[in-house]
Amino acid sequence: MKFLTIKEAMKKRRGKVALRGWVYRERKSNAYAFIILRDHTDIIQCVIEKKNVSSKTWADANKLIIESSIELEGTIKEDKRAPTGYELHVSKLDVVQFAERFPIVKDQSPEHLLDNRHLWLRSRKMTAILKIRSTVFGAIHDFFRSKGFYEFQSPVFQSTQSEGGSTVFEVDYFGDKVYLAQTWQLQAEAAIFALEKIYTVAPSFRAEKSKTSRHLTEYWHAEMEKTWCSFEDLQEYAEELIKNIVKAVLKENKEELKILKRDTKKLEPIVQKKFVRLTYDEVLNILKKKAKMKIDWGKDLRTIEEDKLSELYNVPIIVSNYPKTVKAFYMKEHPKNPKVVLGFDVIAPEKHGEIIGASEREEDIKKIKENLKCVGENPKDYEFYLDTRRYGSVPHSGFGLGVERVVAWICGLDNIKDAIAFPRTMLRKSP
Ligand code: ATP
Ligand code: MG
Repeated sequence: MKFLTIKEAMKKRRGKVALRGWVYRERKSNAYAFIILRDHTDIIQCVIEKKNVSSKTWADANKLIIESSIELEGTIKEDKRAPTGYELHVSKLDVVQFAERFPIVKDQSPEHLLDNRHLWLRSRKMTAILKIRSTVFGAIHDFFRSKGFYEFQSPVFQSTQSEGGSTVFEVDYFGDKVYLAQTWQLQAEAAIFALEKIYTVAPSFRAEKSKTSRHLTEYWHAEMEKTWCSFEDLQEYAEELIKNIVKAVLKENKEELKILKRDTKKLEPIVQKKFVRLTYDEVLNILKKKAKMKIDWGKDLRTIEEDKLSELYNVPIIVSNYPKTVKAFYMKEHPKNPKVVLGFDVIAPEKHGEIIGASEREEDIKKIKENLKCVGENPKDYEFYLDTRRYGSVPHSGFGLGVERVVAWICGLDNIKDAIAFPRTMLRKSP
């Protein structure tokens, strides 16, 4: 008999089916063994009745403990009392492997679950998150390709830092020092002179020494870079990308959002409403008036301030025109105010923090050199980058979106670690 997935079998609704997967839960009595079977699509209650099966099958059924792998044949029918509304009456059981005692039981500490992450991935929660994550990746690729962007890759080994020296990972490179990429950006800015519209989804590395619920040391970074892209165009791309991601998840992952108990009413406005656009100065005023938070002009917004701001709206907030001193060397100086840059962050709702960092790029080679010196870098090390401003420089812009931040927000997770299968942080490098 051809194996069906649990979902396919439930769609069929009745009749004989063959299923295979893992024991998710089990309960036994003198006459019955109740097995909840799990595969990648769902779970289903399976009943093995002693009087209907051979003595070997009954003995095997009694030895089954959770995570044993099995193949089953039987008749499926609707049963309102069963956890997913269907029940399989088993006529045949083949044990593929009797599992050893599973090291994860109910209500275990987050640390234990992280130590056993390779096994915890099988939980309904992690499975649901990973499915949503897959939708998010797909939606990013679909969005950029539908807009005519080329997918472009830049190297992970970098000869310079790009997002601040304090968070670079140094690697010994045959006796030389290189750094793991914090962003693809510098090479991407070279590549747009050939391809004009490019994007990537790739790991970025940041040696984040602080323990926060939003920082990984290795995260997936969706980045875009485009020629002739104004600051306003860039905001449109960011808004449209986020809308497309949320729309795809709402469409494709209804069940997963339910498993995660995510209130989808909180996600619907993202697709329907226009995002809020504020300047840094306006944010300072709003936080002062509405939250009595006083921020000295020139200071970056901290987590508590971003969180407070996010509570005032039900859509993401695009905050632009940050002070030049808190932003990266490549951001374009505002033509009317040299103290601020044409850069923006997108702050997610519900205290999920910054999900996108963006800017128009500085074209003036003198200013780039000055900015580099200001952050203690030697412009000589950036010659290839400066060349992009020497041979037909054009206005261009780009942004980077933290995929795990977006997944954590959409899934309503407290910690970014659950937005990736095998999280890497200062304190965690295995499994
Ligand atoms: P933050 O201020 O939150 O540390 P950042 O300003 O350093 O972020 P950018 O350099 O603008 O971040 O990176 C682009 C995007 O990458 C951010 O908007 C965020 O979504 C994501 N990101 C940055 N650092 C991390 C990290 N350590 N872990 C996960 N995502 C990150
Ligand atoms: Mg940023």
